[in-house]
Amino acid sequence: MAEKRDYYEVLGVPKNASLDQLKKAYRELARKYHPDVTKEDKAHAEERFKEISEAYEVLTDPEKRRLYDQYGHQGLSGQFSNGGFQWSDFTHASDIRDIFGDMGSFGLGGGLFDMFFGGGRGQSGPRKGQSLRYDIEIGLEEAAVGGEREVSIPRSVQCEACKGTGAKDGKVQTCTVCGGRGQVQNVQQRGYQRFVSISPCARCRGTGRTFEHRCPKCEGRGMQVSTSKLKIDIPPGIDSGMRLRFAGAGDASPEGGQPGDLFVVVHVREHEHFKRDGADLWLEMPVEYWEAALGAEVEVPTLEGKAMLTIPAGAQDGSVFRMKGNGLTHLEGRGKGDQYVRISIKVPRKLTSEQRTLLRKLAEHEPKKGFLDRLKKN
Ligand SMILES: [Zn+2]
Ligand SMILES: [Zn+2]
Repeated sequence: MAEKRDYYEVLGVPKNASLDQLKKAYRELARKYHPDVTKEDKAHAEERFKEISEAYEVLTDPEKRRLYDQYGHQGLSGQFSNGGFQWSDFTHASDIRDIFGDMGSFGLGGGLFDMFFGGGRGQSGPRKGQSLRYDIEIGLEEAAVGGEREVSIPRSVQCEACKGTGAKDGKVQTCTVCGGRGQVQNVQQRGYQRFVSISPCARCRGTGRTFEHRCPKCEGRGMQVSTSKLKIDIPPGIDSGMRLRFAGAGDASPEGGQPGDLFVVVHVREHEHFKRDGADLWLEMPVEYWEAALGAEVEVPTLEGKAMLTIPAGAQDGSVFRMKGNGLTHLEGRGKGDQYVRISIKVPRKLTSEQRTLLRKLAEHEPKKGFLDRLKKN
């Protein structure tokens, strides 16, 4: 087997690619390699399409991406149900739909789209609609305070023209093959044994209904794609990889069952200055050496603006100071995390002549030190 390619390389994005960059790259490549639209060799395109979809799935999932960055492909063994990526692991069906619009024109009823949207779950009763996933990227400041966001979700809804029946003007008949049950029994005799299996009726595709003329609007599918706007509440303190669930905001069921759910997956962008550790924040703050030696009040950034931090005289390089309650809201429990400031002591690369004179004077006051004195712990 050929060696597995690097996911970033597959999508042609840098290692620190943002969600927007990933989306854009996937969009372009999907347009090129989707088997229903490609101009390339079909088998090759199908393979490439799966490869880019796998890379997209992993890199847009903060936990999988972290494992991959740390351990490479090996880190992901165990992340996919069948040992490796399968189409059933792909959670971005709505993105594909976003790219290609209404799928009526893309040979529905076979191949990949069935894998995405067909589901193939063997329960009885009308199947629930497909659940959708939507990714949003927010800044750390927004994650700290939370707030409302409006998103546009392309989802399947019942076709208005035929009221979901798929029939022109809604004129339907009971399927004569399955008698309206939507399922057929297959009996096989092998020697003395009879095997009975139940499968969806092929004539009516499991709906129990047939019609003479298809609805021209939805080409008989009973569904159409429409973009709905949804307001979502982002709770303060939200972290990367968390999912917000909106019951019933997914696709409508083609069989009249419950609609699927919508999962909004939140990605929090890396901050220029702050590193996040749960509800706590860490900041690396350079200070001048005289500030460390004499003690000082220094201005430090906080997520809400700025605050003053007291550096005690004699502070050492790497000392950490805690600013209580300046972190993010705890999602569970109450209160807020803290902000930690780790100082590093700057040594000037260039001195003015006045500074040089002053420093020389200072040096004259200090006795010369041997290495034993220098190595002594203070
Ligand atoms: Zn219709
Ligand atoms: Zn039937």
